Amino acid sequence: MTMLGRRKFLIKTVIGAGAAFPLAIAEGSFGKPVGKGSMPLILSTWDHGMAANERAWEVLNSGKSIVDAVEEGVKVTENDLDNLSVGLQGLPDREGITTLDASIMRGDGACGAVAFVRQVKHPISLARLVMEKTPHVMLVGEGARQFALAEGFPMEQEVLSEKAERAYQNWKKTSEYKPVINIENHDTIGMIGMDANGKMAGSCTTSGLAYKMHGRVGDSPIIGAGLFVDDEVGAATATGLGESIIRISGSFLIVELMRQGRSPQEACEEAVRRLVAKNSNIENIQAGFLALNKDGEFGAYAVHPGFNFARHALGERGMVNSGSHFKRK
Ligand code: ASP
Repeated sequence: MTMLGRRKFLIKTVIGAGAAFPLAIAEGSFGKPVGKGSMPLILSTWDHGMAANERAWEVLNSGKSIVDAVEEGVKVTENDLDNLSVGLQGLPDREGITTLDASIMRGDGACGAVAFVRQVKHPISLARLVMEKTPHVMLVGEGARQFALAEGFPMEQEVLSEKAERAYQNWKKTSEYKPVINIENHDTIGMIGMDANGKMAGSCTTSGLAYKMHGRVGDSPIIGAGLFVDDEVGAATATGLGESIIRISGSFLIVELMRQGRSPQEACEEAVRRLVAKNSNIENIQAGFLALNKDGEFGAYAVHPGFNFARHALGERGMVNSGSHFKRK
Protein backbone atom coordinates (compact mmCIF):
# COMPACT_ATOMS: atom_id res chain seq x y z
CA MET A 1 0.00 0.00 0.00
CA THR A 2 1.34 3.44 -0.83
CA MET A 3 1.83 5.93 1.98
CA LEU A 4 -1.21 7.85 0.82
CA GLY A 5 -3.25 4.72 0.47
CA ARG A 6 -2.30 3.60 3.95
CA ARG A 7 -3.09 7.01 5.36
CA LYS A 8 -6.50 7.05 3.76
CA PHE A 9 -7.17 3.56 5.02
CA LEU A 10 -6.20 4.45 8.55
CA ILE A 11 -8.35 7.54 8.63
CA LYS A 12 -11.28 5.79 6.96
CA THR A 13 -11.23 3.04 9.56
CA VAL A 14 -11.80 5.58 12.27
CA ILE A 15 -14.21 7.80 10.45
CA GLY A 16 -16.35 4.80 9.66
CA ALA A 17 -16.73 4.02 13.33
CA GLY A 18 -16.76 7.65 14.42
CA ALA A 19 -20.31 7.91 15.64
CA ALA A 20 -19.75 5.13 18.12
CA PHE A 21 -17.05 6.94 20.10
CA PRO A 22 -18.22 8.27 23.43
CA LEU A 23 -17.14 11.74 24.54
CA ALA A 24 -13.90 11.30 26.37
CA ILE A 25 -13.60 13.75 29.26
CA ALA A 26 -10.16 13.88 30.77
CA GLU A 27 -8.65 16.38 33.17
CA GLY A 28 -5.28 17.71 32.02
CA SER A 29 -2.48 16.36 34.21
CA PHE A 30 0.07 18.90 35.26
CA GLY A 31 3.64 18.95 34.02
CA LYS A 32 3.30 15.78 31.93
CA PRO A 33 2.16 15.34 28.37
CA VAL A 34 -1.63 15.24 28.55
CA GLY A 35 -1.78 13.22 25.42
CA LYS A 36 0.31 10.35 24.17
CA GLY A 37 1.43 10.74 20.60
CA SER A 38 -0.80 9.87 17.69
CA MET A 39 -1.21 11.07 14.11
CA PRO A 40 -3.20 12.41 12.45
CA LEU A 41 -4.41 14.76 15.13
CA ILE A 42 -6.71 17.78 15.13
CA LEU A 43 -7.11 20.01 18.20
CA SER A 44 -9.34 23.07 18.60
CA THR A 45 -10.10 25.48 21.37
CA TRP A 46 -13.43 25.29 23.22
CA ASP A 47 -16.43 23.09 22.59
CA HIS A 48 -17.29 24.72 19.27
CA GLY A 49 -14.14 22.85 18.24
CA MET A 50 -16.03 19.53 18.08
CA ALA A 51 -18.00 20.44 14.95
CA ALA A 52 -15.00 22.21 13.45
CA ASN A 53 -12.74 19.21 14.07
CA GLU A 54 -15.32 16.90 12.59
CA ARG A 55 -15.23 18.87 9.36
CA ALA A 56 -11.42 19.11 9.38
CA TRP A 57 -11.16 15.35 9.87
CA GLU A 58 -13.55 14.76 6.99
CA VAL A 59 -11.48 17.05 4.73
CA LEU A 60 -8.27 15.27 5.69
CA ASN A 61 -9.95 11.94 5.11
CA SER A 62 -10.93 13.01 1.60
CA GLY A 63 -7.22 13.21 0.77
CA LYS A 64 -6.87 16.98 1.02
CA SER A 65 -4.01 18.70 2.80
CA ILE A 66 -3.77 19.62 6.46
CA VAL A 67 -4.00 23.31 5.54
CA ASP A 68 -7.28 22.60 3.69
CA ALA A 69 -8.47 20.78 6.80
CA VAL A 70 -7.74 23.60 9.25
CA GLU A 71 -9.26 26.19 6.92
CA GLU A 72 -12.45 24.21 6.24
CA GLY A 73 -12.71 23.20 9.90
CA VAL A 74 -12.90 26.70 11.35
CA LYS A 75 -15.23 27.85 8.57
CA VAL A 76 -17.88 25.77 10.36
CA THR A 77 -17.51 28.05 13.39
CA GLU A 78 -17.40 31.20 11.24
CA ASN A 79 -20.75 30.05 9.84
CA ASP A 80 -22.37 29.20 13.17
CA LEU A 81 -25.14 31.74 13.79
CA ASP A 82 -25.25 30.90 17.48
CA ASN A 83 -21.62 31.76 17.98
CA LEU A 84 -21.08 35.24 19.39
CA SER A 85 -17.29 35.25 19.33
CA VAL A 86 -16.36 34.03 15.84
CA GLY A 87 -17.60 35.26 12.45
CA LEU A 88 -19.84 38.14 11.42
CA GLN A 89 -22.55 37.08 13.88
CA GLY A 90 -20.07 37.80 16.70
CA LEU A 91 -20.48 40.61 19.20
CA PRO A 92 -19.60 44.04 17.75
CA ASP A 93 -17.15 46.68 18.87
CA ARG A 94 -18.34 49.61 20.94
CA GLU A 95 -19.52 51.43 17.79
CA GLY A 96 -21.79 48.48 16.99
CA ILE A 97 -19.62 47.17 14.12
CA THR A 98 -18.37 43.58 13.95
CA THR A 99 -14.76 43.36 12.77
CA LEU A 100 -12.89 40.11 12.30
CA ASP A 101 -9.33 38.85 12.77
CA ALA A 102 -7.88 35.59 11.41
CA SER A 103 -4.60 33.85 10.66
CA ILE A 104 -3.43 30.64 9.05
CA MET A 105 0.00 29.02 9.04
CA ARG A 106 1.69 25.99 7.52
CA GLY A 107 4.50 24.09 9.15
CA ASP A 108 6.94 25.16 6.44
CA GLY A 109 6.68 28.79 7.59
CA ALA A 110 4.13 30.07 5.08
CA CYS A 111 1.53 32.23 6.81
CA GLY A 112 -1.19 34.80 6.18
CA ALA A 113 -3.46 36.97 8.26
CA VAL A 114 -6.22 39.57 8.08
CA ALA A 115 -7.25 41.95 10.82
CA PHE A 116 -9.94 44.55 11.50
CA VAL A 117 -11.80 43.31 8.44
CA ARG A 118 -15.48 44.01 7.79
CA GLN A 119 -18.21 42.29 5.74
CA VAL A 120 -16.22 39.14 4.98
CA LYS A 121 -17.90 35.97 6.16
CA HIS A 122 -14.79 33.79 5.99
CA PRO A 123 -11.76 35.78 7.11
CA ILE A 124 -9.83 32.51 7.41
CA SER A 125 -10.12 31.97 3.64
CA LEU A 126 -9.02 35.55 3.05
CA ALA A 127 -6.01 34.97 5.32
CA ARG A 128 -5.18 31.90 3.27
CA LEU A 129 -5.25 33.93 0.06
CA VAL A 130 -2.97 36.54 1.63
CA MET A 131 -0.59 33.64 2.32
CA GLU A 132 -0.87 32.10 -1.12
CA LYS A 133 -1.44 35.01 -3.49
CA THR A 134 0.39 38.00 -2.08
CA PRO A 135 4.00 38.69 -1.11
CA HIS A 136 2.68 39.83 2.31
CA VAL A 137 1.73 38.22 5.59
CA MET A 138 -1.00 40.55 6.80
CA LEU A 139 -3.66 42.83 5.33
CA VAL A 140 -5.89 44.94 7.54
CA GLY A 141 -9.11 46.95 7.46
CA GLU A 142 -10.18 48.49 4.18
CA GLY A 143 -7.16 47.03 2.37
CA ALA A 144 -8.18 43.53 3.43
CA ARG A 145 -11.76 44.22 2.33
CA GLN A 146 -10.57 45.49 -1.07
CA PHE A 147 -8.47 42.36 -1.50
CA ALA A 148 -11.52 40.25 -0.65
CA LEU A 149 -13.58 42.11 -3.27
CA ALA A 150 -10.85 41.63 -5.87
CA GLU A 151 -10.79 37.91 -5.08
CA GLY A 152 -14.55 37.65 -5.55
CA PHE A 153 -15.60 37.26 -1.92
CA PRO A 154 -19.23 38.29 -1.45
CA MET A 155 -19.66 41.31 0.82
CA GLU A 156 -22.13 40.67 3.62
CA GLN A 157 -24.51 43.37 4.84
CA GLU A 158 -23.45 44.98 8.09
CA VAL A 159 -26.44 43.97 10.15
CA LEU A 160 -25.90 42.52 13.60
CA SER A 161 -27.30 39.08 14.23
CA GLU A 162 -30.39 39.07 16.43
CA LYS A 163 -28.47 37.74 19.42
CA ALA A 164 -25.61 40.20 18.96
CA GLU A 165 -28.00 43.14 18.57
CA ARG A 166 -29.78 42.23 21.80
CA ALA A 167 -26.49 41.91 23.68
CA TYR A 168 -25.17 45.16 22.21
CA GLN A 169 -28.32 47.10 23.17
CA ASN A 170 -28.01 45.70 26.64
CA TRP A 171 -24.33 46.68 26.87
CA LYS A 172 -25.15 50.21 25.67
CA LYS A 173 -27.27 50.80 28.80
CA THR A 174 -24.03 51.28 30.73
CA SER A 175 -21.48 51.32 27.87
CA GLU A 176 -18.90 50.30 30.41
CA TYR A 177 -15.63 49.94 28.53
CA LYS A 178 -13.84 46.96 29.84
CA PRO A 179 -12.64 43.94 27.93
CA VAL A 180 -15.21 41.20 28.23
CA ILE A 181 -13.71 37.75 28.44
CA ASN A 182 -15.67 34.59 28.84
CA ILE A 183 -13.84 32.69 31.54
CA GLU A 184 -16.01 29.61 31.25
CA ASN A 185 -17.44 29.92 27.81
CA HIS A 186 -16.31 29.64 24.24
CA ASP A 187 -14.35 32.33 22.44
CA THR A 188 -11.91 32.36 19.53
CA ILE A 189 -11.42 29.14 17.65
CA GLY A 190 -7.77 28.16 17.27
CA MET A 191 -7.18 24.88 15.45
CA ILE A 192 -3.87 23.05 15.10
CA GLY A 193 -3.44 19.80 13.27
CA MET A 194 -1.07 17.26 11.86
CA ASP A 195 -1.59 14.78 9.04
CA ALA A 196 -0.45 11.16 9.03
CA ASN A 197 2.91 12.20 7.57
CA GLY A 198 3.66 14.76 10.28
CA LYS A 199 2.83 17.86 8.21
CA MET A 200 1.27 20.55 10.37
CA ALA A 201 -0.94 23.60 9.95
CA GLY A 202 -3.02 25.89 12.13
CA SER A 203 -5.83 28.41 11.85
CA CYS A 204 -7.25 30.98 14.22
CA THR A 205 -10.36 33.15 13.73
CA THR A 206 -12.35 35.50 15.94
CA SER A 207 -14.57 38.55 16.19
CA GLY A 208 -12.30 39.56 19.05
CA LEU A 209 -13.27 41.15 22.30
CA ALA A 210 -16.87 42.21 22.64
CA TYR A 211 -17.28 46.02 22.68
CA LYS A 212 -13.61 46.61 21.94
CA MET A 213 -12.44 50.03 20.70
CA HIS A 214 -13.01 50.42 16.96
CA GLY A 215 -9.75 49.36 15.32
CA ARG A 216 -8.56 47.13 18.15
CA VAL A 217 -6.77 43.99 16.98
CA GLY A 218 -6.11 41.04 19.26
CA ASP A 219 -3.64 38.17 19.23
CA SER A 220 -5.51 35.89 16.81
CA PRO A 221 -4.16 37.37 13.54
CA ILE A 222 -0.69 37.99 14.96
CA ILE A 223 1.63 35.19 13.88
CA GLY A 224 3.52 34.09 16.98
CA ALA A 225 0.84 35.37 19.37
CA GLY A 226 -2.44 33.62 18.51
CA LEU A 227 -0.85 30.97 16.28
CA PHE A 228 2.51 29.48 15.42
CA VAL A 229 3.40 26.31 13.50
CA ASP A 230 6.76 24.75 12.70
CA ASP A 231 6.95 21.24 11.19
CA GLU A 232 10.33 20.73 12.86
CA VAL A 233 8.88 21.17 16.34
CA GLY A 234 5.13 21.57 16.76
CA ALA A 235 2.25 24.02 16.81
CA ALA A 236 0.46 26.22 19.31
CA THR A 237 -2.62 28.42 19.40
CA ALA A 238 -4.19 30.73 21.95
CA THR A 239 -7.51 32.05 23.16
CA GLY A 240 -8.41 34.67 25.72
CA LEU A 241 -7.44 38.27 26.30
CA GLY A 242 -5.35 39.04 23.22
CA GLU A 243 -3.34 41.82 24.81
CA SER A 244 -2.02 39.47 27.49
CA ILE A 245 -1.07 36.90 24.85
CA ILE A 246 0.65 39.37 22.51
CA ARG A 247 2.70 40.66 25.45
CA ILE A 248 4.46 37.29 25.76
CA SER A 249 4.35 36.18 22.08
CA GLY A 250 2.45 33.22 23.50
CA SER A 251 2.28 30.73 20.63
CA PHE A 252 5.82 31.37 19.43
CA LEU A 253 7.06 31.05 23.00
CA ILE A 254 5.41 27.63 23.35
CA VAL A 255 6.89 26.32 20.10
CA GLU A 256 10.33 27.57 21.12
CA LEU A 257 10.02 25.94 24.56
CA MET A 258 9.12 22.67 22.82
CA ARG A 259 12.14 23.13 20.54
CA GLN A 260 14.25 23.23 23.69
CA GLY A 261 12.82 19.93 24.84
CA ARG A 262 9.69 20.75 26.84
CA SER A 263 6.58 18.67 26.30
CA PRO A 264 3.53 20.50 24.90
CA GLN A 265 2.02 20.44 28.40
CA GLU A 266 5.15 21.86 30.08
CA ALA A 267 5.46 24.53 27.39
CA CYS A 268 1.81 25.64 27.82
CA GLU A 269 2.26 25.81 31.60
CA GLU A 270 5.43 27.88 31.27
CA ALA A 271 3.67 30.29 28.89
CA VAL A 272 0.84 30.73 31.39
CA ARG A 273 3.36 31.37 34.20
CA ARG A 274 5.01 34.01 32.02
CA LEU A 275 1.65 35.57 31.16
CA VAL A 276 0.64 35.68 34.83
CA ALA A 277 3.94 37.37 35.70
CA LYS A 278 3.72 39.97 32.92
CA ASN A 279 0.11 41.07 33.30
CA SER A 280 -1.44 42.98 36.16
CA ASN A 281 -5.09 42.54 37.05
CA ILE A 282 -4.65 38.84 36.36
CA GLU A 283 -7.77 37.88 38.33
CA ASN A 284 -9.81 39.38 35.45
CA ILE A 285 -7.78 37.91 32.62
CA GLN A 286 -8.46 34.56 31.03
CA ALA A 287 -6.08 33.09 28.47
CA GLY A 288 -5.60 29.52 27.36
CA PHE A 289 -3.01 27.75 25.21
CA LEU A 290 -3.18 24.56 23.20
CA ALA A 291 -0.14 22.83 21.70
CA LEU A 292 1.02 19.70 19.92
CA ASN A 293 4.47 18.46 19.05
CA LYS A 294 5.78 16.55 16.08
CA ASP A 295 5.35 13.23 17.90
CA GLY A 296 1.64 13.90 18.15
CA GLU A 297 1.70 14.65 21.89
CA PHE A 298 -0.47 17.51 23.03
CA GLY A 299 -1.13 19.70 26.03
CA ALA A 300 -3.12 22.73 27.18
CA TYR A 301 -3.17 25.16 30.07
CA ALA A 302 -5.08 28.27 31.05
CA VAL A 303 -4.94 31.07 33.59
CA HIS A 304 -8.31 30.25 35.16
CA PRO A 305 -10.40 27.06 35.24
CA GLY A 306 -12.94 26.59 32.47
CA PHE A 307 -10.81 26.21 29.35
CA ASN A 308 -11.34 23.08 27.30
CA PHE A 309 -10.51 21.83 23.85
CA ALA A 310 -11.75 19.37 21.25
CA ARG A 311 -9.54 16.55 20.11
CA HIS A 312 -9.88 14.28 17.10
CA ALA A 313 -7.35 11.46 16.84
CA LEU A 314 -7.35 7.95 15.47
CA GLY A 315 -9.89 6.01 17.48
CA GLU A 316 -10.80 8.86 19.82
CA ARG A 317 -12.63 12.13 19.73
CA GLY A 318 -14.03 14.29 22.46
CA MET A 319 -13.60 17.23 24.77
CA VAL A 320 -10.64 17.49 27.14
CA ASN A 321 -10.62 19.82 30.14
CA SER A 322 -7.49 21.90 30.52
CA GLY A 323 -5.73 22.43 33.83
CA SER A 324 -5.22 26.01 35.03
CA HIS A 325 -2.84 28.19 37.01
CA PHE A 326 -5.54 29.31 39.43
CA LYS A 327 -7.64 26.46 40.75
CA ARG A 328 -11.38 26.31 41.25
CA LYS A 329 -12.36 27.82 44.60
N1 ASP B 1 -8.06 36.19 21.66
C1 ASP B 1 -9.19 36.95 21.17
C2 ASP B 1 -8.84 38.39 21.12
O1 ASP B 1 -8.22 38.90 22.03
C3 ASP B 1 -10.44 36.81 21.96
C4 ASP B 1 -10.73 35.52 22.61
O2 ASP B 1 -10.10 34.51 22.40
O3 ASP B 1 -11.67 35.50 23.38
O4 ASP B 1 -9.26 39.05 20.19
